[in-house]
Amino acid sequence: MRELRKLPKAHLHLHLTGSARLATVRELADKYGISLPSELVNEEAGWGDGGREWSHFQFRYDAARQTIQSAEDVRRIIREAAADDAAEGSRWLELQVDPSSYARHLGGLDQAVEIMVDACHDAARTAGIGIGLLLAVSWGASRDQAERVALLAARYAHRGVVGFGISNDERLGEPDAFVSASHIARDAGLLIAPHTGCYTDHSHVRRCVELLGARRIGHGITAATSNSTLEILAQNQVTMEICPTSYLPLGLFPALAQVPVTEFQRAGVPVALGADDPLIFGTRLIGQYEILRDVHGLSDQSLADLASQSVRACTAPAEVTKQLLAEIDRWIR
Ligand SMILES: [Zn+2]
Repeated sequence: MRELRKLPKAHLHLHLTGSARLATVRELADKYGISLPSELVNEEAGWGDGGREWSHFQFRYDAARQTIQSAEDVRRIIREAAADDAAEGSRWLELQVDPSSYARHLGGLDQAVEIMVDACHDAARTAGIGIGLLLAVSWGASRDQAERVALLAARYAHRGVVGFGISNDERLGEPDAFVSASHIARDAGLLIAPHTGCYTDHSHVRRCVELLGARRIGHGITAATSNSTLEILAQNQVTMEICPTSYLPLGLFPALAQVPVTEFQRAGVPVALGADDPLIFGTRLIGQYEILRDVHGLSDQSLADLASQSVRACTAPAEVTKQLLAEIDRWIR
């Protein structure tokens, strides 16, 4: 059995606060005199039967996010996320952040993005990996808010912003409201990568592809239930960012074995494994590959295929992806 740590991969689904180490969040909470909810502080406090839903996740995430109050906090979290990713064989990391959630403490929306872009640049150099930033808006955002963030993303397209995302609870919005913002982002050469298909059905996923031009989908698990949507995803080679450890706590599946990776693979739809929010769900990137090996019974060849799919779907320059694909090839040979 080959070492998964040595398998080169791209990590395409990781959120800023969710990427933080628990120890760091505890330290920051002490620094600012914030008392964290026991569910977050106590690693043993699991997700009881009553707790497996979006609101419980959001409560924990919001509490942790409050501990990020300065440029130095942002720099530290991104630096540590990059180091942790690099240690697991991730060679290209794409971090997703909704800058409006951090703007209040960081001097406004524009300044928040400036800080994050610089932090990614420094962290990439220190960790020896590539980092791209996706700016996201909430599915609950207005058309104006979405356009504003898309314009900001476009402005930073040559300074490390690689994509435009839509995050938070997808039941809050319809793809139609994000058409103009997606146009702005696409015109700037940015990737469109919305979260969808957890609590909404496959048609919400399909409309993200058809109306917004999404090239990657955060989760999109309900798409696996529809042959016609699978066909559209395969035709357009839209990559699904699947994060196995997120779905049980969110009440979407009762068991890890049900996470639809092979369903997408069989339909010819690429999959990139991601950790989403290791702070909340407790597992980083390697753990996702381990689940596919241990629970789904994937061979080393299939795991290498998944790593290749993550690399093909990333926004790294062509010479970087070529190099990584060659290294994946060497891992399997
Ligand atoms: Zn996510």
